Formats: sequence, structure tokens, C-alpha cells
Amino acid sequence: MRYDFHSHSHFSDGTLSPTELVQRAEERDINLLALSDHDSVSGLIEATIAIEQQGLSVKLINAIEISAQTDFGEIHIVGLGINPKGPALVEQLAIQQNKRWERAILVSEKLDSLNVPGVLDFLRQNCVEVVTRTHMARALVELGHVKDNQQAFKKYLGKKGRVKVPASWMPMEQAIELIHQSGGLAVIAHPTRYPVSNRRLSYLIEEFKLAGGDGIEVSYPSLNPDKRIWLEALRDKHDLLASAGSDFHYPDLRWTDLGRFPPVDVNVPHVIDKLQFVSESSLNLQ
Ligand code: AMP
Ligand code: MN
Ligand code: MN
Ligand code: MN
Repeated sequence: MRYDFHSHSHFSDGTLSPTELVQRAEERDINLLALSDHDSVSGLIEATIAIEQQGLSVKLINAIEISAQTDFGEIHIVGLGINPKGPALVEQLAIQQNKRWERAILVSEKLDSLNVPGVLDFLRQNCVEVVTRTHMARALVELGHVKDNQQAFKKYLGKKGRVKVPASWMPMEQAIELIHQSGGLAVIAHPTRYPVSNRRLSYLIEEFKLAGGDGIEVSYPSLNPDKRIWLEALRDKHDLLASAGSDFHYPDLRWTDLGRFPPVDVNVPHVIDKLQFVSESSLNLQ
């Protein structure tokens, strides 16, 4: 059983359409794919239709990646197995998407004032739905203001960049509740990517569990083996389910291609055990 429980389409900051994404999953022999766009469920319908119409064998897990606020800073929470029509979820995602556009306008104005023009027009023309800093970085590259994505984050959009990018995401507790209300499992995404010490990360995960969190990503690209062992210990300590995914955004980044992350120990409690449509015979992971 090959799975990938974290991926993006062009409805957020991926470059592939949901149709292209499920086709790629099929080519890469993935059996279970979670499409988890940032603050959007819009790609799930297209992905479902593409699988049906083309008779693909990959199964889709309806998912989302919600940006949320905690006392330790911003985190991302993946909701797996959600009902994308859950009314509370739909309502709150619309609010979060609006906040994203408000932020994009502020960022573009600031960039204009720094003599870096054209970003808002680019975003309006190129965003399918959700606007993210990845789109802003792409705008800066395409408009010739920086040489690549990395430079865009370093110079302007990252933590130490020239543009402060204020965000007011929903609280972690609310994100977890929305995921639960819509029937999903709440998983803390890529824990080692948050700019906090190990000690604070451990507290953060404790808070996540206390708030009702269900799982934790313990394997993803660029996670070194020592950190993987450490995350597995944290998972065990806080009695969370294991999850894993590539966080796929674009085909050109080969090391984050679909399904490309170290396998998770088959003996640990895993989100796959709780996702309803998974049959007994498919529990034999990877
Ligand atoms: P946002 O949710 O709008 O703040 O955008 C966050 C997205 O930007 C993440 O999901 C990543 O895909 C991307 N991102 C964040 N930091 C970096 C970075 N330093 N380099 C490249 N991409 C980044
Ligand atoms: Mn992203
Ligand atoms: Mn993320
Ligand atoms: Mn992601």
C-alpha cells in the first residue's frame, strides 16, 4: 500500500490541476492520495471526477491544510477524511481566504512603496483561488524583481524579509474543531519546519493533543533520520497517530515528488487505521 497524505494543487500553491495531480499519483503507483490544499477544498471535486471518469485506481482522501495560530506561532493542520461540504468548515474557509487576499493587498502595497511594482496585478491574474506567499514569490520572479523563489523569501517575504507579512489565522483549537465537525482527523503538519526550539516544539505538540489533535506527520522529505526518530518518540509520548506525506507542490522539485518520503514503521498507530474506507487488507503499509 503506497500512500501520500499531504499534497497541493493549483487551487492553492501547487502548479498541477487536481486532474494532473491524480494522474501523477496513478503513474507513481500511489494507492491513497490526500489532496490537502491550503485553506481550500475546491480541488476535491475535480480530483474525484477525474478519478471516476478516467477509471483510475488511486483513491482520494478529501483533505485540507489549515493555517492556524498558536501561542508558539503559526502552524499548519492537515485535516484528513473531511466532508468538504461541512457548513462550518466552508464558512470559515471563506473567511480565511478573504484574509489571505487582504494580506496580499497589504503586501503588494508595501512592495509598491519599495519600488517593486506589479505584484497585485500578477496575483489577480494567476491565482486560481487561494493566494499564498508562494504566489507572491512567483510574481517577484516572473516580474524580474528577484532571481528565484528562495531569493523572494529571503529578501522580501520570509521571516527576516523587508515586507512584514501579517497574518491573522484562526486559532488552533478552532481549526481542530472544524476538522472534527466535518468528520476528519486533525494532523499537525511538518512539525520541524516551525521556527521554534525542540523544547517549545514539544510543548506545542502537547497543546495540540490537549486541544483534541489526532495525529502528527512523522515522515516527510528533508527530515533527517535523527529528527525522524525524535518525532516518533514525541508521537508515542503524546499518544498521537502517525501520518506522512510529500507536501508535493511542483513536479520540478524531484525530492518532494508524490510518495517520496521515508516509510513509516508499520507497527505504530497510524491515521490510515482510522480512515473509514480503507479495507482491512490494505493495512499493510508500503
Ligand atoms: P502562506 O500560507 O501564504 O504564508 O504561504 C506559505 C507557503 O509558502 C508554504 O506552504 C510554502 O509552500 C511556501 N514557503 C514558505 N516559506 C518558504 C521558503 N522559505 N521558501 C520557499 N517556499 C516557502
Ligand atoms: Mn505551500
Ligand atoms: Mn504546510
Ligand atoms: Mn503543505
